Amino acid sequence: MKSKADVVIIGGGVSGCSLAYNLARAGIDVVVLEKKYLSSGATGACGAGIRQQWSTKENATLAIKSVKIFEKLSKELGEDIDLRQGGYLIIIHDDKGMKQSEKNVEMQRSLGLKVDILEPKQINDIVPILNVKGMQAIGATFCPTDGHANPFKTTFAYANAAKRHGAKIYTHTSVVDIKLNRNKISEVKTDKEPIKTNTVVNAAGVWSKEIAEMIGVKLPNIPFRKEIMVTERLKPMFEAMVISFKDGIYFSQQMEGQIIGGIPIPEERSGYKIIPTFSFMKHMSKTLTRYAPVLKHVNMLRHWTGFYDVTPDARPILGEINGVKGFIQCNGFSGHGFMLSPMVTKLLSDFIVEGKSSDILESLNLDRYKDKKIVKEVSVVG
Ligand SMILES: Cc1cc2nc3c(=O)[nH]c(=O)nc-3n(C[C@H](O)[C@H](O)[C@H](O)COP(=O)(O)OP(=O)(O)OC[C@H]3O[C@@H](n4cnc5c(N)ncnc54)[C@H](O)[C@@H]3O)c2cc1C
Repeated sequence: MKSKADVVIIGGGVSGCSLAYNLARAGIDVVVLEKKYLSSGATGACGAGIRQQWSTKENATLAIKSVKIFEKLSKELGEDIDLRQGGYLIIIHDDKGMKQSEKNVEMQRSLGLKVDILEPKQINDIVPILNVKGMQAIGATFCPTDGHANPFKTTFAYANAAKRHGAKIYTHTSVVDIKLNRNKISEVKTDKEPIKTNTVVNAAGVWSKEIAEMIGVKLPNIPFRKEIMVTERLKPMFEAMVISFKDGIYFSQQMEGQIIGGIPIPEERSGYKIIPTFSFMKHMSKTLTRYAPVLKHVNMLRHWTGFYDVTPDARPILGEINGVKGFIQCNGFSGHGFMLSPMVTKLLSDFIVEGKSSDILESLNLDRYKDKKIVKEVSVVG
């Protein structure tokens, strides 16, 4: 194991691996430490949907710029990440939802995004199997360049490219402590050898709070259990991701034909409970077949659990902690870290390499919680 590095990244999910790629490509001597295997955290559990339709300008900007990167990523990294842009169809159920959607669409269009508000009769043009009445839809928004990719292929493609540029990735290596010297990062202790460094990136997903606590920094992040399921393979029926903020459901059909989707369970979900629930299966089946009755006789093959790393405003925490030189956050993604990772890690890399900050990094710094009027992202599934 290396005994020193310019930058040590904690966490081998999509964030850690894409940041390692950006840094190594810029000539930085970077190490990634992962306590299990690459993608073993939220990344390997996720739906990997890529959506640009957000309510806050920061998330919309990060997602739009990330899509531009995703579109060229397979070629850039030399491995296919299975990107498919079938769009996101967001169902609107009531006047309140319509008002919010109109506001969102206006902001998204001001950023150059092509997005439309659809009437109920146009919904089946996008996804023919949906029951518009059953969903109680009064409309929908649709952005054709939204989509999804394969989270494992994306993470491993980033990791392999990072290694080709000289990054070192140590899996099955836990960070157990971080040392400071006069409020500056000086060393990372692992369950193997220590590594001397002046820059640590906390990309430990739902465990980021524990990492920050190692040097007395308090993060407001809360772990939320999320369940997700996959069905047997079916003939191709639709390409869009269907999502409802009111019902909390999202589902799409994969290239191989399976339906993948999730919904929050009605019970308590915070904490690190990993066991999947029967309640999810019931709730998901009921809602999914209300949306698409044709799926009534389809078999659910498997369902699993992952964690959302949720912040008070459902927006990530990015950038350096004031007062702790070299301690950089890349966490708190609140259920949408896969889709934002290409641009988030590009911004963080620019900051680490050139000291170049940006409006987005400034507004998503931990310090924003000192201000009582934080702007909440509302376009989320709970
Ligand atoms: C069910 C579900 C569905 C989702 N759907 C979507 C979606 O459709 N679109 C989307 O954009 N996002 C989605 N997300 C969210 C997305 O998965 C995450 O935001 C994203 O994967 C976060 O990546 P990450 O690399 O920051 O964290 P993670 O993938 O969680 O990686 C963190 C890594 O840090 C490691 N680690 C922790 N502590 C230590 C330590 N002490 N030492 C060393 N390593 C450590 C962990 O083992 C882990 O591998 C979903 C999440 C879930 C659970």
